[in-house]
Amino acid sequence: MSIRKRLIITSKDQNPDSGNDLLSEKADSGVFSKIFGGASGVSDVRLSLRSLVFGLALLTGLIGFLVFQTFFATAGPQVESLNKPSVSTQSAKNGKTQFFLGIDTSDFDIRVDVLDQTRRLDALLTSIGFTPETVVDLLEEARKKDIETLEKGHEVQIFTAKDGRKERSVLWYKISPDRLAEIKGAPFPQVNIHMLNSYTKVRAAGGIIKTSLWEAVLDRGIHYQMLDRINEALKWSVDLYHLDVGDKFKLVYDENWVENELISVGKLHAVYLETDGKEYFAYLIDNISEPGYYDKVGKPVRRTFLKAPLQYGRISSYFSAERLHPILGDVRSHGGTDYAAPTGTPILAVADGEVLVESENPNNGMFVKIRHDQIYQTQYLHMSRFAEGLQAGARVKQGQVIGYVGQTGLATGPHVCYRFSKNGVEIDPLKENIDQPVILTLEEKDRFYETRDSFAPILRRIVYFKEI
Ligand SMILES: [Zn+2]
Repeated sequence: MSIRKRLIITSKDQNPDSGNDLLSEKADSGVFSKIFGGASGVSDVRLSLRSLVFGLALLTGLIGFLVFQTFFATAGPQVESLNKPSVSTQSAKNGKTQFFLGIDTSDFDIRVDVLDQTRRLDALLTSIGFTPETVVDLLEEARKKDIETLEKGHEVQIFTAKDGRKERSVLWYKISPDRLAEIKGAPFPQVNIHMLNSYTKVRAAGGIIKTSLWEAVLDRGIHYQMLDRINEALKWSVDLYHLDVGDKFKLVYDENWVENELISVGKLHAVYLETDGKEYFAYLIDNISEPGYYDKVGKPVRRTFLKAPLQYGRISSYFSAERLHPILGDVRSHGGTDYAAPTGTPILAVADGEVLVESENPNNGMFVKIRHDQIYQTQYLHMSRFAEGLQAGARVKQGQVIGYVGQTGLATGPHVCYRFSKNGVEIDPLKENIDQPVILTLEEKDRFYETRDSFAPILRRIVYFKEI
């Protein structure tokens, strides 16, 4: 039986008047997060509160009330909601006493244990110091509430009274993200289930790129899970790995909260990107037959070809008619686009097609050639290995992993040389614009307008922060 001690919070404040026998609807967000903080982004959010929020606007919109905020020079990603948590946040008057679900935490030493395989509730209760009679009563209560079995790997928070009275101990067990069990011995043995308030907040944020989009997004306190959604919405239109300093982005998206803890991010409703003097919009329309992101006139952003054969990587050499070959030393054209990435980075088929060649030669190293249709073919060079089971004749889907970055053949470092040919001639895929218009029905078009017109004003009102 092992107990892993993870966190101890003690307070110098002693307040003998605040017992643990009254259940009041009070909790302090800070304490809650410290105790149940976990891996959510909420700590990131708090950490980046170097600043103040200047603007806050409330909108009535698509999904009832939307709450959004604007980000300024010093604005941190504080979030507000109209849906008050059922267990509200409240700090005590002296600013030091902290309540956790009605309990004055300054009265207790708090430790967080992780249940191991052999841990049983009765043993746990006994180890806390409850009397055998109390343990029997608590087990009976726990059975009634259906929590007599505690799952391994779950955390149990144990509050031990600083006055040494063991019966005052309280044990917290998070049954699920939104249900918390409270097991206490005083003033009488009882097991209470607290329903934690789960709700969705719509959040708006914007930023200016200093190094990369990814850093700028994280810098604004936006949950890292949003990166994939941004990528999905914009990768078809923009080379997200080659944005410039000063490029700007704006987002409107959902965050899923339980009490004061950010659990995950939800939909990315709208995204805007300004780069190279152009503006890009993508709106998520999911109540139609071809759900996905659509641009500001209702054309799908999704294209026949991915913008790049890697999800993460940077362009190290562009397609060009002439360049000095780094190894051979002579001037020759570069019929591909090189994406530098660590060896082993997955290489993706940019479109559906059939594998024509899966082979190796001294120049290309290990490479794959795919025919997409009568007109277009693509090649991927210098792989360290092929994807398992991939061979000539195989059908591949867009985004399917076909191999991994390496530096086989003529290569000075790990990269994939991506070659795109049209009617047998190598061309620059970044300049080829092939999209497949999806025709929305009249009814779907209406849904598009409705969504776009709800979020476009929000996007417009997001203010960028300014660096001083
Ligand atoms: Zn190349």
